[in-house]
Amino acid sequence: MNLWRTAVLAIAGQPLVERLVKTYGLRLARRFVAGDTLEEALAVVDRLEADGIHGILDVLGEMVTDEAMARAFAEEIKKTVSAFAERPYPRYVSVKLTQLGLDTATSLAEALLADILALAREKDVFVRIDMEDSPRVDATIGVYRAMRERGFDNVGLVLQAYLKRTEADLEALRPYAPDLRIVKGAYREPPEVAYQDQNTIRERFKALVRKNLEAGNKTAIATHDDVLIDWAKRWTGEAGIPRERFEFQFLYGVRSELQRKTAREGYTTRAYVPFGESWYPYFSRRIAERPENALFVLRGIVKK
Ligand SMILES: Cc1cc2nc3c(=O)[nH]c(=O)nc-3n(C[C@H](O)[C@H](O)[C@H](O)COP(=O)(O)OP(=O)(O)OC[C@H]3O[C@@H](n4cnc5c(N)ncnc54)[C@H](O)[C@@H]3O)c2cc1C
Repeated sequence: MNLWRTAVLAIAGQPLVERLVKTYGLRLARRFVAGDTLEEALAVVDRLEADGIHGILDVLGEMVTDEAMARAFAEEIKKTVSAFAERPYPRYVSVKLTQLGLDTATSLAEALLADILALAREKDVFVRIDMEDSPRVDATIGVYRAMRERGFDNVGLVLQAYLKRTEADLEALRPYAPDLRIVKGAYREPPEVAYQDQNTIRERFKALVRKNLEAGNKTAIATHDDVLIDWAKRWTGEAGIPRERFEFQFLYGVRSELQRKTAREGYTTRAYVPFGESWYPYFSRRIAERPENALFVLRGIVKK
């Protein structure tokens, strides 16, 4: 599976493939992306709410290399925060620090994020910092710490179970009593830094969820894997972890029936709802997660 992901992400990085998929793939991307506009994304959130699922809005965009673009994305995210705040249900957005110029200057990403957090706090919106690829983990954790030290507590971080460093990161973050989202990890990472074997990744995932919940912190369990979801339901019940302290998170367009079932069972359930024009890298990661998805894209392109 990891070999498959490595291969798909390498192919997706080829300019010709990117051109083909961008030309013919938009309709296909709609399975995972709510649309180009904020209005379309809010309409998806409204539909999810009807099924008892809360939305996490994500303005698509990452690996920005100039300051003007980072500032433009920060404005879009603030617009999203303000518009979401008009809705009567729980509000939550995800951001990527490379979208806010992390690769240009950490100080730029920090300043733009602080600005977003200040508005979000005023509007009662929670902000999750997504975790990107391994070379950016130190900087991402550094920005999270800086925000907490500035007094923001409407912010959480993501930790990836496939990275060998993650348990040490979780330990080091203990003083912040962090609200964490635990995921398996979506990027192409070498064996030196990341476990490649599914069973090991699952065991690391469980250990991270257990540790953060046992420390008394809030934890989002973000996976579509039945083995992990069933384990989490069973273990939290046995350990007496109150339901207000954990939730299940999913990606829009992936295992929708499972999402509705989790909500019906009374667990807090959220779906990550990405929108915007910069959908290609996000879409490539979703394709890399499942061989059937690549066939679906290929068939779509050939038909055109
Ligand atoms: C809310 C949320 C936020 C996330 N944030 C981050 C982040 O910040 N950083 C990061 O690195 N990763 C993030 N991820 C992605 C994560 O790391 C995994 O790549 C992704 O969730 C797939 O792994 P899985 O745990 O669902 O297990 P898998 O073993 O990949 O999948 C389990 C089952 O789910 C279904 N499934 C999974 N993915 C797909 C798909 N794309 N299409 C169709 N079916 C699928 C299949 O039935 C599969 O058998 C996030 C995931 C979620 C749900």
